[in-house]
Amino acid sequence: MKLREACKLSKEELKSLQEELLQKAKESDLNAYIGFERSEIGVPILIKDNIQVKNWPITCASKILQGYIAPYNATVIEKLKVKGFAPMGRANMDEFAMGSTTESSFYGPTKNPHDTTRVPGGSSGGSAAAVAAGLAIAALGSDTGGSIRQPASYCGVVGFKPTYGKVSRYGLSAYASSLDQIGPITQDVKDAALLYDMIAGYDEKDSTSANIAHTSIYKNLDSSQKYTIAVIDNYVEAASEDVKEAMQKAIKALKEAGHTIIHKNLLNTKYDIATYYIIATAEAATNLGRYDGVRYGYRAEGAKNSMELFFKTRSEGFGDEVKRRILLGNFVLSSGYYDAYYIKAQKVRHLIKEEYNKIFAKADLILSPIAPSVAPKLGQLQDPLTMYKSDMYTLAINLVGLPAISLPIMKNKENLPVGLQLIGKAFNEQPIFNAALSLEERVNYKG
Ligand code: GLN
Repeated sequence: MKLREACKLSKEELKSLQEELLQKAKESDLNAYIGFERSEIGVPILIKDNIQVKNWPITCASKILQGYIAPYNATVIEKLKVKGFAPMGRANMDEFAMGSTTESSFYGPTKNPHDTTRVPGGSSGGSAAAVAAGLAIAALGSDTGGSIRQPASYCGVVGFKPTYGKVSRYGLSAYASSLDQIGPITQDVKDAALLYDMIAGYDEKDSTSANIAHTSIYKNLDSSQKYTIAVIDNYVEAASEDVKEAMQKAIKALKEAGHTIIHKNLLNTKYDIATYYIIATAEAATNLGRYDGVRYGYRAEGAKNSMELFFKTRSEGFGDEVKRRILLGNFVLSSGYYDAYYIKAQKVRHLIKEEYNKIFAKADLILSPIAPSVAPKLGQLQDPLTMYKSDMYTLAINLVGLPAISLPIMKNKENLPVGLQLIGKAFNEQPIFNAALSLEERVNYKG
C-alpha cells in the first residue's frame, strides 16, 4: 500500500495496518527494525534510530546510548503527529550514521531484501530495506553524505535529501551539523513529495533552519514540465557497466519526456571525498564529545575517577568506525594541523560549490549516479578507505547543501536495483520532483 492510499484509511483500518506491519517486521529476518515501538493510531512511519520520539529509546545503533530514553519529540515527529501520522518502529542504521552499509550497527547488519547476502546500503539501511520489503509504508532517514539516497538506490526505493535548512534538525542526533538533513524514504516519487511536505518548513528551534515558507510539492506535481538536465561526463566514467546502462536508459527516457540533456564536467570527485571526510569527522568529533558516561545512556563500571569513567565509557561504548572518525576529527582540528586540513577543506568546499553554481547557470537539474555499483556483498566494504570511496557520488551534494532525489531506474542481470539521482538548485525543489516523476513514469521500474 502506498503512503497516499494509507492516508485515506479509517482509524480501524489504520490500526489493523499497523498491526499487520509490525507482525511482518517481527517475522522478518532482515534486521531492518531494531525496535517495535508504536505511538497512537495513525498513518505509520518507520523512524531511523537517530530521531527523537518522546519516551522511546533512541540509541543511534550504538552501545553508548543503551538505556537512553528520548525526553522530547524531534520537530519532524511533532509535525507528523499534527497531520495524523504515527511514528512506528525503530529502523536500524550505521552507528551514529557513520557508514555506507549499516554494518557498523551495534545490533548487527541489516540485509538487502533483493539479495540477503548483500548490504542494504547505509546509513539509513534499515529504513530503505523495510520500505523495499513491505515492512513499512514509508520511513524517515537522515542524509549527511548520502545516507538516504544510497540505501534507497541499493534497495530499489525512492529517497529525498532536502536542501540544507529546509527540514528542522531539532531532535536529530548530530553527526556533522553542517551536512545533516532528515528526509523521506518511500515507495515512489509521489509518496516522497507527500511525506516531505509533512516535515518541511521553518523551525525557530533550529538555528540553521531557513526562514522560508514551504509550498506543497505534492499539490504542484507536474510531470509535463520540461527542464534542462546536465550529465557530468567525467563523473560517470568511474561507474560500473550497470550504472552506465542505467544512465543511458534514464537519458533516453528524459529526452522522450521532452527534457533537454546537456553534457558538462566537474572537479574531480577525489576532492569531494577528502573534503567531506575532513569536515564530517571534525564536526563528529565535536558533536560526540557529549557522550561521557555521565549524561547519556551507557556508563562503564569500576572507574575510579571521572577521567577514567570518561575513557572507559567511550572505549567500551563506541564501535571501531566511530572511534576512527573521532580520532581523525580531533587530528584535523588540532593545532598545527588545523590550517593544513580543516581550513583547507573549508576552502575546497567553497570551490566545489562554485563548480555546481557554474553548472546550474546553464541547467535546472543534474542527473548523476548514486554509487559506483549495485549493493555490495556483506563484508565487501570492510576496508574503510574502500567504503569511503563508494560515497564519491553523494558527498558533494551535502557539502554544497543541495537537494537531490534518488530513484530506481532498472535491475541488473542479477536482479539488483540500480538507482540514479536528480540534483537541483537550493530551495528550488519542485523541478526535482517533477522531472523525477516524468522519469519514473517512463522507466517503469518494478520492485
Ligand atoms: N557514508 C557517509 C559517511 O559515512 C555518509 C553517511 C551519512 O550520510 N550519514 O559519513
